[in-house]
Amino acid sequence: MSPEARAAKAATMRRYRARRRGELPPWVPPAPIARDPVAWMVPVTNEDGSICLEWTRATNRDGYAVMRWRGRVRIVSRVVLELALGRSLAPGMKACHTCDNRPCCYRGHLFEGTHEDNMADMASKGRGHWQRAADPRSPTEQAADRSYRR
Ligand SMILES: [Zn+2]
Repeated sequence: MSPEARAAKAATMRRYRARRRGELPPWVPPAPIARDPVAWMVPVTNEDGSICLEWTRATNRDGYAVMRWRGRVRIVSRVVLELALGRSLAPGMKACHTCDNRPCCYRGHLFEGTHEDNMADMASKGRGHWQRAADPRSPTEQAADRSYRR
């Protein structure tokens, strides 16, 4: 045992004996870590002034928020939508973002829809890749921007 470890153990034992003698307040276990996923979201103001709730923890390689939920790794926006609807999403249905912000998990920005609904929503906002002005940057420069990992 190193001298530092010996000193740390001696200090722990001194506190232990002091508590036994009533000279220190009893040890209180730390508060449990929040299990409410909302604790892991932060409000972020978009360019248009709207506010997204962005996930601060893990994202998958596509940039969507993920967490372990009831023993499985799930996409958080799907879990949020399922909790709000009180049922699982129908087969083939997606949790679509009206804000097009992949790490966003705000209920007001999510709707259950098909891939076609999502494409129509995107086109209605003029956000389809075919609707944007051509990017003058090289593909390498564009790829550097496309990383959603934070
Ligand atoms: Zn959003």
